[in-house]
Amino acid sequence: MSVLSSSAGSFAKNLRCKECGRVYPLEPAHVCEFCFGPLEVFYDYEALSRVLTRRRIESGPPTMWRYADLLPCRAETAVDIGTGFTPLLRAPNLGRALGLDRLYVKNDCQNPTWSFKDRVVSVATSVAREFEFDTLACASTGNLANSVSAHAARAGLKACVFIPADLEQGKIVGSAVYGPTLVAVEGSYDDVNRLCSELGDRYPWAFVNINVRPYYAEGSKTLGYEVCEQLGWRAPDHCIVPLASGSLFTKIYKGIKELAWLGLVEWNATRMSGAQAAGCSPIFEAWQRQSYNIRPQKPNTIAKSLAIGNPADGYNALQVLAQTSGAAAAVTDDEIVEGIKLLAETEGIFAETAGGVVVAGLRRLVQEGHVSPDELVVAFITGAGLKTQEAVAPALAPALTIRPTIDSFEEALASAYGGPVGKAVLPPGRSGALAGRRS
Ligand SMILES: *Cc1c(COP(=O)(O)O)cnc(C)c1O
Ligand SMILES: [Zn+2]
Repeated sequence: MSVLSSSAGSFAKNLRCKECGRVYPLEPAHVCEFCFGPLEVFYDYEALSRVLTRRRIESGPPTMWRYADLLPCRAETAVDIGTGFTPLLRAPNLGRALGLDRLYVKNDCQNPTWSFKDRVVSVATSVAREFEFDTLACASTGNLANSVSAHAARAGLKACVFIPADLEQGKIVGSAVYGPTLVAVEGSYDDVNRLCSELGDRYPWAFVNINVRPYYAEGSKTLGYEVCEQLGWRAPDHCIVPLASGSLFTKIYKGIKELAWLGLVEWNATRMSGAQAAGCSPIFEAWQRQSYNIRPQKPNTIAKSLAIGNPADGYNALQVLAQTSGAAAAVTDDEIVEGIKLLAETEGIFAETAGGVVVAGLRRLVQEGHVSPDELVVAFITGAGLKTQEAVAPALAPALTIRPTIDSFEEALASAYGGPVGKAVLPPGRSGALAGRRS
């Protein structure tokens, strides 16, 4: 196996146990042999601070690989299918609807497989190749399987991806099309994950979110870097992030902290808040009890991408919530659907259920006074809506079906919206009148 620390362009130094601090070489490992704590990649920040400048980053490619110095693999051999540097949009209409003056949406739907998971998988695939694995695998709630399948195809690796059998059609097709071995497990994500942990002992495969998890997780830091760079090298006041395992949430924060350590942004005491679906909210529930002791749940929600009942990084997510004076919210399935529609109707962005969780969760957090109107808030929209159509379709107005004549068109308008035939008008646009309803 090659040794990562000799790679040019990477400042990764070693793996460290987050619990006891023990140091390990950069190998495919994810738990401390002494205390079973999770391992994390540690960098040579002193060397980094001598080399890394805003200009060096700005002259890089328009993808997440502009931050290669801060990732645990070499840029030259990275498996890059064009992930990252997604739009950070000012969201004035949604802001008005929620009562926020300075709201931004980080639109991570616009990745190659339409979710933020391309960030973590791009790193994991690159590392897996450096470690000379020939097969990529994962335990997935859906988006991860899509991304692993696509990256394996691009990298010429075999793929074996495991999903719960009851996933949305868009997520099943969105994996199968790349030609992996797709395994639908009759059980929950937590069952899938346990099975994959056992399989990891039998098969010499890179399970991206298990045995190479420390490297994989680093990919999520790029969301933090991008947001700061796109705000003109400024850290946001408040981030609102969906929580499944909790990894994304903690790594966005790590990314922001690293930029501050390296002097690339001013420290802004960014607050980190998280959103979950009420039907699977173990992190929210522990936060509410003011406890670090997570009680595993049996998920029951339309937000399948977030349906992890026993979150691997839940403890760390609770630490970040506490350290940053963040808050957590849990929203019902109806609120999730409302959140999806609100984002679409106000800003023209069609998110999957996780996006609905974030928008509805943000609404809650504003109402409860956890987010204040003048904060610079970034809402992280992590996956695209065409993958989870069945969640929102029943709540949408049907098409007006007509014969191809003007009469038929005007009759349909009149019966949908009232008014005399021939004079029927469309309902007003909704950015100013959000209460307006077509059906
Ligand atoms: C996986 C996923 C998340 C959360 O990821 P964790 O790092 O497990 O918390 C959020 N949004 C979408 C769309 C996802 O697929
Ligand atoms: Zn340890």
